[in-house]
Amino acid sequence: MDREARTMYRTKFHNLEQMDIRALTWCMQCGNCINDQRSEVGADGTCTVYDFTPGFEPYYSRGKNMVIRALLEGRLEPSQELADAVYMCTVCNLCNHMCHNTWDEIEDGGTASFPIHRVMDHAAVYEALRADLVELGFEHRPGHKVLLASVKQNDNPWGQPRRAKADWTRIYEPKGKNLAKKKEKIDVLYYTGCTAALDRTMTDVVISTAQCLDKAGVNWGFLGANEVECGSILMRVGEREEFKRVARHNVKEFNDLYEQYGCRTIITSCAGCFKTIFQDYPEWYEEIGEVVKPEVMHTFDFLLRLVKDGKLTLDHKVNARVTYHDSCHNGRHCGYFETPRELLNEIPGIQLIEMPRNGKNARCCGAGGGVKSGYGDLATRISLDRVKEAELTGAEFLVNNCPFCEQNFRDGIIGIKSELKNFDSVQLVAVSCGAKPIEALKSLGT
Ligand code: SF4
Ligand code: SF4
Repeated sequence: MDREARTMYRTKFHNLEQMDIRALTWCMQCGNCINDQRSEVGADGTCTVYDFTPGFEPYYSRGKNMVIRALLEGRLEPSQELADAVYMCTVCNLCNHMCHNTWDEIEDGGTASFPIHRVMDHAAVYEALRADLVELGFEHRPGHKVLLASVKQNDNPWGQPRRAKADWTRIYEPKGKNLAKKKEKIDVLYYTGCTAALDRTMTDVVISTAQCLDKAGVNWGFLGANEVECGSILMRVGEREEFKRVARHNVKEFNDLYEQYGCRTIITSCAGCFKTIFQDYPEWYEEIGEVVKPEVMHTFDFLLRLVKDGKLTLDHKVNARVTYHDSCHNGRHCGYFETPRELLNEIPGIQLIEMPRNGKNARCCGAGGGVKSGYGDLATRISLDRVKEAELTGAEFLVNNCPFCEQNFRDGIIGIKSELKNFDSVQLVAVSCGAKPIEALKSLGT
C-alpha cells in the first residue's frame, strides 16, 4: 500500500485512513455488489443481507462505500443509526469478489475492468469503519456487549469458565497432551477454539479431531484451560485494542511452544480462528510485536496431508450424498476452496454435490461479522435461505468446516423442518478412518 493512498484524508477516522481506499473514488455505481446480473450467483442477489434488510443503500457495499467517502470528506457526521446499520453486515466479502475495483485480473482470468490488483478489501474496510465508530464512542449491539464482557472475564465469548475448555476430555480421553497441566514436547498444537470446545452440542467436532490425530499417531497437544480465545469476534466488531491484547498473549504462547517444546504446526477447527491466526495476526504483527512461528493450518488441510502421507487411511465407506458449505473465512478470505473438497473426495462412498452458489460465490451462513449476536433474527433468516439451497441439491448431509456456521445452520434446519443432517467434515473423516463407528453419524447433526 503506498503512502499517498494512506494519506488522502486527515480525519478522525484513523483506522479507515490506514486502509487503501482509493477504490472508493472509482465506484461506478454498477450495483454488482448488491445484485449481480451475471449468472454466477443466481438472480437473488450478491449481498448476503440483500433480501433480509430494509432496502437502504448503507446495508450494501455500494452505499457503505458512499457513506465512508462522505465521512472522510466531512459531508456526513457519524451517528448511532449509522453504527447500527454497519453492524448489519456479515463481512462475508461476496461484494468484494463481485466488485470491478477489487478483482484481481490474473486470478480472475483477465476479466477485470481496471488494471488494478486487489486495491481494496471491502470487509477489511468495514471492520476499520467499525473500529473508528467504537473509538468515537458509539455503542455495540446489546448482544455484542455480552460477548465482549465474557471475553474480558473468561477469555472466551460464551460465558463459560476457562476450565470448561477441557471438558470434552471427560467424554474422550485423548492421547494428545493437556498442556495446561504440563508443557511437553509436541509436534502439533490443536487450538480447539471456543465454539467447538464450549458448545456442548458441538464438542464432537473436537473429539473427532482428537480421534483422527490419535489414529494417525500424531504427537499433539492442546491448551485446555489455558487456551485464550483467538480474537476473531473482537476484530470483527471493531474492538482493536482488546484484539491486540489477546493476539499478543496467543502469539507469545505459540512461539514459546515452538521454541521450547518443538511445536511446528498449529491446527484449528474453526474458520474464524483460522483466518484470525493465519491472516490477521501477520497483518497486525507490528503492533503484536512478533509473528507466529509454527505453520498455521485448518484441520482439513492437516488431515489431507496425513492422508497423502499415508499416516491416515480412509478405508471405511460412508455411502452418502453430501454438499459442502464454504465458510467465508476459509474460502473467500483465505482462499481455501479445493482442499476441503479433496479431503471429502478421499472418503470412499461419498458423493459430493455442489450447491449453485459455491466456492468464491458461496453465500454466507449468516452468522459472521457479529451478526449472530447483534441481529439474531437476520442470521437465522439468512441461514434458512442457505439450508434451502443445500436441500435442493438432494444431499443428505450438509457439511462444513466451521462450528460457527454449523451452529447457525442448526437454526435454519429447525426453522424449515429440514431432513438435512448438518455437521463438520472432520466427523466424516473420523468415521472413515475407523476412529468412530458408522452408527455415530446417526446421532450427529441437527
Ligand atoms: S460483506 Fe457481505 S453482507 Fe457485507 S455488504 Fe458485502 S456482501 Fe453484503
Ligand atoms: S460493485 Fe464495486 S464498483 Fe460496483 S457499485 Fe459495488 S462498490 Fe461500486
